[in-house]
Amino acid sequence: MKTSSVRIKNRIETESEEYCLESCSNGDPDEEPPGKRSISDNLEAKPPDKIVSTRHRLFGHIPDEIWNDWKWQFRNRITSVDQLVQFITLSTEEQAQLRLVTMRYPLSITPYYLSLIDPNDSEDPIRKQAIPSALEMTMGSLGAEDPLGEREDTIVPGLVHRYPDRVLLVLTDICPMLCRHCTRKREWRNGGWVRSSVEVEAMLNYIRQHKNIRDVIISGGDPLTLSTNHLEHIIERIRAIKHVEIIRIGTRFPVVLPQRIDKELCSMLTKYGPIWLNTHFNHVREITPEAAAACDSLLRSGIPINNQSVLLQGINDSVEDQTQLCHGLLKIKVRPYYLFQCDEVQGTEHLRTPVGVGIKIIEGMRGHTSGLAIPTFVIDLPQGGGKIPIQPGYMLSQTEGELVLRNYEGRVFHYRNPTKPARHELSADVLCPTASATINLPQEYRVPVRVRRSPKCG
Ligand code: SF4
Repeated sequence: MKTSSVRIKNRIETESEEYCLESCSNGDPDEEPPGKRSISDNLEAKPPDKIVSTRHRLFGHIPDEIWNDWKWQFRNRITSVDQLVQFITLSTEEQAQLRLVTMRYPLSITPYYLSLIDPNDSEDPIRKQAIPSALEMTMGSLGAEDPLGEREDTIVPGLVHRYPDRVLLVLTDICPMLCRHCTRKREWRNGGWVRSSVEVEAMLNYIRQHKNIRDVIISGGDPLTLSTNHLEHIIERIRAIKHVEIIRIGTRFPVVLPQRIDKELCSMLTKYGPIWLNTHFNHVREITPEAAAACDSLLRSGIPINNQSVLLQGINDSVEDQTQLCHGLLKIKVRPYYLFQCDEVQGTEHLRTPVGVGIKIIEGMRGHTSGLAIPTFVIDLPQGGGKIPIQPGYMLSQTEGELVLRNYEGRVFHYRNPTKPARHELSADVLCPTASATINLPQEYRVPVRVRRSPKCG
């Protein structure tokens, strides 16, 4: 996917400069600061307990007003090993290894997300998602740069058209945090771009010309790195296309920088519904009061939220991890939607699990918690094959007349398999005695209906 897009300005605003962490990051998301928002004011359900937060230890000198300014958080991302060692203990050898890794796969962590890491635990699930590992290089020969074949399905720069009725728009390669398991790791070396207005217009023209496109997914890089005005300019024009029914936004901001979900953004999004938002919580510890408040603001603005987590070794690869995560999501009214098998992306092999792990997790959840809490375990097939659900096998055998099934406890049941619809006889209680009652069924299912006079209808 060739990009001739606009480079982000290397502008560091002077506002709040006295609170700039050493070596402020470039890649400012530009334009106006977000409005203030109240956190947790209106939450109906108490968010899960805040677990370990090192904010006050590491960032205690940052006042709340600055801390809750998403642009301050964005500008002060930790993007080098030299910055990282100010917050996390790394041996000299680890530092040298990580310098090598970040030459190929850069580093970016928001102060907020960094504050969730337990600095005393090298196996911390938050840490493993954010801090590079030498294994990204030592196992780097496994996998592919673009395993999903997105380049082949890119019709115009930034627009991926794989399924008949929906398209993916990639508006930028910038994310507030660079997740170590990212499918689009290949884009990280391109140094921060945003689609130009000419490129966006070409994408919109493609959608206008293809009337079968009813669903437009805006994803990333993270599209919420664009300013609210910039995003609105694009969403407004998508919404003006009559055959586009829904717009979906894929973003990890509610997880890694929830302060971005401010009143201004919510008011803008609410104008262009139906908009659905897919986010990406991977561990229950990410469901903080700040994240819960961000989701609450979106929901109150009419934006339903689904969660797409990725199954990651040593991070969320047990029944307990996933159950806690999904229960936590339901408490903040976010639907557990997909659990993805980690794609075979170069530099992520150490985080991938055997497919059987995902199947066992679903097996361990089914029956032990409500169906609402169970995501669909999915493999996104290589070479653009698309997503397929993978489920434990509950059907032991199937004949024309019978299914043999097992339940979550392993008990076996014989289930009569209807081969023809049963003969209909409508109840007198629900019939009105009009002369020519018809039932609108396909021809092969039509059977004579005996209409009886209902005593209640006189
Ligand atoms: S937010 Fe998504 S696109 Fe961005 S680095 Fe993380 S996984 Fe990749």
